[in-house]
Order: sequence, then structure tokens, then C-alpha cells
Amino acid sequence: MKYIDYSLSEILDLLNSKKVTAVELVNSCFEQIEATADLNALNSTYKEMALARAKEIDEARTRGEKVGALAGVPIVLKDNINFLGTKTSCASKFLENFVSPYTATCAKKLYDAGAIIIGKANMDEFAMGSSNENSAFGAVKNPVDNTCVPGGSSGGSACSVAAKQCFAALGTDTGGSIREPSSFCGVVGIKPTYGRVSRYGVVAFASSLDQVGPLTRTVRDNATMLNIISGKDEADMTTSNTAVPDFTANLDKGVKGIKIGVAKQFFTDQLSSEVSTTLKNAIEWYRQAGAEIVEVDLPSLDTALAVYYVISSAEAASNLARFDGVKYGRRAPVYKDVVDLYFKSRTQGFGAEVKRRIMLGNYVLSSGYYDAFYRKAKRVQKVIRNEFNKAFESCDVLISPTTATTAFKLGEKSNDCVAMYLTDIFTVPINIAGVPALSMPCGKDSKGLPIGMQIIAKHFNEATIYQVANAFETAHKEEK
Ligand code: GLN
Repeated sequence: MKYIDYSLSEILDLLNSKKVTAVELVNSCFEQIEATADLNALNSTYKEMALARAKEIDEARTRGEKVGALAGVPIVLKDNINFLGTKTSCASKFLENFVSPYTATCAKKLYDAGAIIIGKANMDEFAMGSSNENSAFGAVKNPVDNTCVPGGSSGGSACSVAAKQCFAALGTDTGGSIREPSSFCGVVGIKPTYGRVSRYGVVAFASSLDQVGPLTRTVRDNATMLNIISGKDEADMTTSNTAVPDFTANLDKGVKGIKIGVAKQFFTDQLSSEVSTTLKNAIEWYRQAGAEIVEVDLPSLDTALAVYYVISSAEAASNLARFDGVKYGRRAPVYKDVVDLYFKSRTQGFGAEVKRRIMLGNYVLSSGYYDAFYRKAKRVQKVIRNEFNKAFESCDVLISPTTATTAFKLGEKSNDCVAMYLTDIFTVPINIAGVPALSMPCGKDSKGLPIGMQIIAKHFNEATIYQVANAFETAHKEEK
């Protein structure tokens, strides 16, 4: 077995028992990055910086010093997370040469725990997309079948973890961007409760929905990563004071007595029959393992996508106003006056999907339309939240498919934005409700493509999600 074949938790044991060094691990990851370069998962890599840090950590271990919980583990960040001295491009021509002047809280927490940042992952431009084809630096390929998309927008993060270039990655999720690529690439990804992880230093898309979360190869690894990055941050007033429990504590508790909610609104005609059958089998497995399956109702679920595109575009239009060609990033080389400078810089710097969102966002916020669209969407958001809260009065977690189908072909939906938006029908409601949800592999289709299962819990109940997820993963290890 090669080092890269181990999970993060296993590799930590090898590091702590000095059976492998951080320098060896960084070198193995870079060998794999070179061998799988055609996947286009990473926008930039930092081999020298990583090796220097690995050497420091190895020396500290040799001296017998106390090292951090992730000391020596190579990790990748999505390219919208600032890390001092690295490029943070958001896969946009606008920020092609932008170098982070500071480090995001989530990245700092990883760094302080001894994780080694080896690269930045490709993504859809400014996190807008579901296939990673909206990157200014080329599409990412699915490592399971390279004629398929890896999902998006954290497609580079999911691909890198699945292709064993690193032991874990961070992504961001505004409407499904961690869970959908996790589902398509066969890895584990969580969108934590809104407010669980600091957004400070993460380039904003829709600030009221964005959350950072880890993508890993196992449930345990995921819980370990979330432990490190969670918590109140004075620099992000939307982070919560709610205590951060040890997310690994309940992993082996099983599911006896756990109530699993199933809502018919998640099992629509849009579901491919293979996804539907696999999910039903998974739910049946849970029943036999001692969980109680209860039916719940989420009558407004199908409104979530429309609500999402109003709210997220409105916030995006306002967040992206800062990219004016003056303060940071690209500046048009030739312009007449300041208005022309803004106009040309934005016209040249942003890709088509980003422009579409800015136009949509400004439209729904414009006078005369604000009440009809934005205010109404915020009202429906409340209805959706209440429905989720009500559902959780009768169950501990909800289970749904992550996506209606497995990974689709590169190019298949790139000219049909509505078809692309519909990819997120099961993930978007979670962000609208603000609750946490994890996607994990629960089987494969007849083409061998991974099928994702989404486990949802009430606010700040990630520990229960991990407990439920780990029971399934442990029982199905051999099938992987
Ligand atoms: N695919 C969705 C969108 O394009 C979600 C993106 C995300 O979660 N960042 O808006």
C-alpha cells in the first residue's frame, strides 16, 4: 500500500508513530499530483513551501515537541480561500494574479494544527456552477470517468481528494458546492450549519448562505477536519457561540433508536432509477440496523431553487461590486475615464455565468422588483426553514439523495443553465434552511459512477450526522 492510499486518520497514526515523515508524504502527494495532472484539479501548487513546512514539523516531532492534531498532513484549499502568499484566483481572470495578503481563519486553524497546504483547487468561477466547467482555467475532469464532470463548484477539491493528491481539502458550499461534487466523485463532504465555520478570508459569493467545509475520503476524516476549523471567530460576526463538540466522539455509537426521516418530496420523478433504488436500499439497511424510519413532509421543498437564485444572485451582485478594476485584480489596460475603467475591467474580467448572476441580482434588487422578488424570496425562505424545523421534531436526521443522477458528461449541460441549476434541487434547500448536511457515497450506478446519499440534521447537530454516516460506511467498507 502506498502512503497516499491511507485515509487521513490512518496517516496521522503513521506520522505520530514516526513510521512516515511529513517530507515523505508531501513528496508522495506531489508524485500523485504529477501523475494525475490531466484532471486539472489544482490551480496552483506550493511544493517548496510545503516541503519547508514538512521539514519543520518532522524536526519538531523528532525533538519530542507537542505537535498539532494534523501535524504533517498534506491538504488542499479551494481557490477562494486566502492563504498568505498564495494565489487566490477564484478561477477567474479577474483575480488571475491576485496574491493573498492574509490568511483566512479556517486556513489558519488548519495551519496552526500542523496541516501542510500543498495547493489551491480549481473551481467554478467565484463558486458559481455545478460542473466546474465555469473555470477560467479549464474544466476539471471526474477522476472516476474523465469524460464526466466532477461536479461543482468545489470540483477541484473533490477531484483532488478522490484522486489521492491530498488527504483532505476544504471547499465552500452556498447551494451544494461541497455536496454535489462529493457525490459525483465518491468522497465525503459536509456543509456545516451556517455559523459553524468562519467565513473570514473566504471570498464571498452569497454571504448569508456560504459555508466552508471539508471533503475527505472517510467519515472519520471529515469529523476530524471539522473539529479543527469550527468555532466562534471575532472576525466573522455570523459565527456562532454554540459549543463545538468532539465530532468524532459518537462515530461508533451505531443507529439503534435513531429516527431517520424520509420526505417524499426528495423522491421525485427526476430521480434516476438507479439512484432511487440505491437510496431505498440504504434506507432499508438503516432500518435493519435498528433505526426507525419515519415519514416527514416538506411541502415547500420545490420552491427552494427559485428562492436560492433570487437570494444568492442578489447577494452576489452586491459582493462582486468590489471588483471594479481599481482595488484588486484585473484592470483594463486601455480606458477613457473612470466609468469606462469599471465597465471594461468587469467586461473583460468576468466570465458569462458570473455576469448572468450579477445581472439577475441587480434586477431582483432594483426598485419596483425588490418586493416582488427579493422580499418574497426571503419570506418563502422562512417557510422552508420552519418546515425543516418541524420535520426535525419527529426525527434526528433526514436522508435524501444528494443529486438526482450520477455525474453527467463534460459539455452535456454547459449550454443549458436551467438544466445546470436543476442539478442542485436537493442540496439548495439545506442552505436556505441553514442546517448542516453531509454527502457520502452509498453505491455505484451500472457505469461504476458513485451515488451520493445526503444526511441532514437540525442546526448544530453535525455530530449526529457523523454518527449515522459512519454506521453505514463501516458496514459497507468492503464494497468500496
Ligand atoms: N451550483 C450552485 C450555484 O451555481 C451552488 C454553488 C455553490 O454552492 N457555491 O449557485
